[in-house]
Amino acid sequence: MSEPHFQRIALIGIGLIGSSIARDVKELGLAREVVISTRSAETLKRAEELKLGTHYVASAEDAVKDADLVIVSVPVGASEDVARQIAPALKAGAIVTDVGSTKASVIAQMAPHMPKGVHFIPGHPLAGTEKSGPDAGFAGLFRDRWCIFTPLPGTDANALQRLKDFWIALGSRIDEMDAEHHDKVLAIVSHLPHIIAYNIVGTADDLETVTESEVIKYSASGFRDFTRLAASDPTMWRDVCLHNKDAILEMLARFSEDLAYLQRAIRWGEGDKLFELFTRTRAIRRSIVQAGQDVDAPDFGRHALDAKK
Ligand code: NAP
Repeated sequence: MSEPHFQRIALIGIGLIGSSIARDVKELGLAREVVISTRSAETLKRAEELKLGTHYVASAEDAVKDADLVIVSVPVGASEDVARQIAPALKAGAIVTDVGSTKASVIAQMAPHMPKGVHFIPGHPLAGTEKSGPDAGFAGLFRDRWCIFTPLPGTDANALQRLKDFWIALGSRIDEMDAEHHDKVLAIVSHLPHIIAYNIVGTADDLETVTESEVIKYSASGFRDFTRLAASDPTMWRDVCLHNKDAILEMLARFSEDLAYLQRAIRWGEGDKLFELFTRTRAIRRSIVQAGQDVDAPDFGRHALDAKK
């Protein structure tokens, strides 16, 4: 066990991400006390049954009292509400961070409420699954995954380093960029693929010429991988779409143009165009495997991931 990085950590929100952090903190001994707070009494009770923390508190405001590190893990649309609740009780010198999938909006919602002397450092671990709730989390979720920080100008270097050291202890690789750039990058690597998945699964569901039972029965051929993405938490993804609107719309416009190009190539039998694109995209897949972001297994590494849990 390593030396505790913090005396008291407060976890606001204890779903997939919050509970995975809690499990790592416990396993690695990264804090003496872990105070957990969540919106519903039911989830709080479940967190206690799972022994995810040392204290369980209904009010977010009470939970952050005396905490050195506060990690907010709620849907991005709830960020302002949480910031307003916790602000009056934050200790001077505390670090407040979040894990939200969009960053400019979270900053706009939370920063104005942060008292002077509190270090607000937005973050985003690029790790997750399509599951949600405290039972879905697991230790090691963040291992070998990126955690991106989008610090505000003038952020205290010491506080930033402490937060980075915490995520490094969870096994993450860390990076830093500004919030607008983060939101563009994530729009293409994460948000657009989810939107496409929601769309394709919705289209299949609406088809009249292919029955739903055929879609389910023959789903091994490509469709299955979309259904995993399309099973992601509706609240989280509604909020991502609403809170990264500009970047997502920009990427969707590009996507639609490129799709029209592909559509034309298919219509006119332009095999060379199709072959050139499919060759280029195959090379990207190879680079992702080489960078250690996935394994070259036919199940896209899902069994390997399940085995880790
Ligand atoms: P989750 O499993 O659904 O858990 C959500 C948590 O937030 C629960 O504790 C829930 O409380 C609470 N919550 C929900 N709505 C709330 C509201 N309106 N006000 C206050 N609290 C609320 O979600 P998650 O997957 O951990 O995601 C949490 C954050 O991590 C999101 O911002 C998401 O963008 C980000 N993220 C997710 C992933 C992923 O793959 N899932 C990856 C990276 C980052 P109750 O259960 O008590 O209602």
